[in-house]
Amino acid sequence: MKRLLAAFSALLLLLSLFSFGSCSEQTVTKSFFAMNTYCTVTVPAKNADAADEIIRRVNALEALLSVSREGSDIYRLNYSDGEQTPIDNETALLLKRALELNSLLPAFDFSLFRLSLLWGFFATPSVPDDADIKSALSHCGTDKLTVGDGFASLSGGAMLDLGAIAKGYAADEASKILLSHGVERALLNFGGNVFVLGTKQSGADYKVGIKKPYTEEILATLTGKDLFYVTSGSYERYFTEGGKNYCHIIDPKTGYPAESGLYSVTVVCEDGTLADVLSTAFFIMGAEASLDFINETHLCEAVFVTSGNEVIITDGLKDRFTLLSSDYALKD
Ligand code: FAD
Ligand code: MG
Repeated sequence: MKRLLAAFSALLLLLSLFSFGSCSEQTVTKSFFAMNTYCTVTVPAKNADAADEIIRRVNALEALLSVSREGSDIYRLNYSDGEQTPIDNETALLLKRALELNSLLPAFDFSLFRLSLLWGFFATPSVPDDADIKSALSHCGTDKLTVGDGFASLSGGAMLDLGAIAKGYAADEASKILLSHGVERALLNFGGNVFVLGTKQSGADYKVGIKKPYTEEILATLTGKDLFYVTSGSYERYFTEGGKNYCHIIDPKTGYPAESGLYSVTVVCEDGTLADVLSTAFFIMGAEASLDFINETHLCEAVFVTSGNEVIITDGLKDRFTLLSSDYALKD
């Protein structure tokens, strides 16, 4: 049986458990569909205009960065046949940041769109022939991208996909809007990219939930303010063929969906773009290599949920993490 869960319901890997507390402050939650996922913005009612500005900003970013929308910068670049293509300065800056992050973390490779198409993740998924995978892989590679000020070009048949970074960037931009409006407390959830601003009015921390794989239950909660929480997982957007699950995150070394013994990775840090990239890269790298990276760089905290039903957390989360399921064991 083949199955690909609908992306819009599937991407809510992180569940915000929010209430603004028992005090009298009125709140408003605005929900909208963007970047192929449900997004929510919760703010005090007096800051509703900030929420409206966020929605406009996210829609504008999608118009620039979507892989599937004809006329977006990324779409025009992907179908430019190697020609130099004019793009918005903001797209150019994000592509430059993506190139830097790809150098730091080669597992984050935003040039794999040809492979995602081959696997059918944007249509009807199925396992392709190995020869076709190898052929598609030979066209990929961020070295085929040149970015200038207001233009870019792609050679060798490579195609870009900012699906592992653009939601995080959008969350960063949304957080700036909240700050520019002087918003004291807010919760954003862009399909598994969560941002928590401030605390409840009572001063208590908000809780962010990590989903228990293959269920609608909550496995664990995290607390901490002014932080991005981003999850990448294998159990939300996948299909099954020949009794095996294939997820949408592709290992650039093989051209096949990543298999690193993880059900999910949640990254916590102060930079939404970075958190999005790290969660995808860590999912491919696996827990051990990711923990080495974190110990060397101190760029983030993280929670790894393994397919052996273990949970591994970094030291900085020890006082902010609560495991809620006895089906999983916290590994020392
Ligand atoms: P993440 O781990 O953050 O990202 C995984 C996604 O990144 C994959 O789905 C793939 O797209 C890409 N990817 C796979 N392997 C790698 C890798 N090794 N390195 C880097 N990236 C990789 N989905 C649709 O089906 N239709 C749409 O029209 C559509 N429009 C979108 C427009 C925008 C602006 C954005 C940001 C996303 C859009 N998406 C669309 C959704 C998108 O393709 C992914 O489903 C989504 O971004 C995955 O997010 P995630 O948090 O689940 O996983
Ligand atoms: Mg990501």
